[in-house]
Amino acid sequence: MVEVGTAEGEGALSRAAGPRPPDLLRVHEAIAGVLATQGDWRRAYQHLRSALDIARDGSLRDALTSSYNRRYLDERLYGPFTDRPPLGIALIDLDRFKSVNDTYGHLVGDRVLRRVADLLQEDLPPDGFCARYGGEEFVLWLPGVDAGDAVRFVEGARLRVARHPWSELQPGLRVTISAGLAHAAPGAGTAERQLRSADTLLYAAKRAGRNKVAYHDAQTTQLITHSE
Ligand code: GH3
Ligand code: MG
Ligand code: MG
Repeated sequence: MVEVGTAEGEGALSRAAGPRPPDLLRVHEAIAGVLATQGDWRRAYQHLRSALDIARDGSLRDALTSSYNRRYLDERLYGPFTDRPPLGIALIDLDRFKSVNDTYGHLVGDRVLRRVADLLQEDLPPDGFCARYGGEEFVLWLPGVDAGDAVRFVEGARLRVARHPWSELQPGLRVTISAGLAHAAPGAGTAERQLRSADTLLYAAKRAGRNKVAYHDAQTTQLITHSE
């Protein structure tokens, strides 16, 4: 008889950053196999469910940064459970990141990406998340916040990155991000359109000199590019 702990309580997708140990999946699978040979189908099923949850969670995470990935973002953008406004969506891009790779090498570049993802995820509203959109671009998804709070979340993220002691990673290293933030009030268009606006605003932030958050003022719709 194999003594195994119950798999109950390991169900739902974890929202916490960081991968689960991949071996845990194999452990659950192996235990399920042993239990099945003993005819203990109920507990075998529980362990298979746990293995499935871990596999599903892994399929929605970015391998490098452990933030959510493009697949998860697309589910939230186009899926049946997409958030209703108020919703802030920010598209974030690392500034001059190619020169980080060129100067310090791609391994340092990878470490920078991981750390930026951690910094972006440090302060998000309930049910908010960070997803790697691709390359050196991330999306911050900020549900249930008004326009002013959305700016504060994104501005906070920009400052955390700009003030991070990057030289501890590599002497001379500096890293900043630019962001385009689109906020939608109730009754606004789709999240997909909002992401497109965020993309346009990101270019405005880049053009304004980088290390900036660009958004439209909620009252005047005037373009603001915010920085220290
Ligand atoms: P800009 O401020 O205009 O955004 O300049 P940039 O240099 O950041 O933009 P560009 O698009 O020229 O370069 C993006 C770089 O990001 C090039 C690419 O090699 C790097 N990159 C994308 N994904 C990864 C990754 O997973 N790891 C590393 N190390 N680099 C990556
Ligand atoms: Mg880019
Ligand atoms: Mg860039």
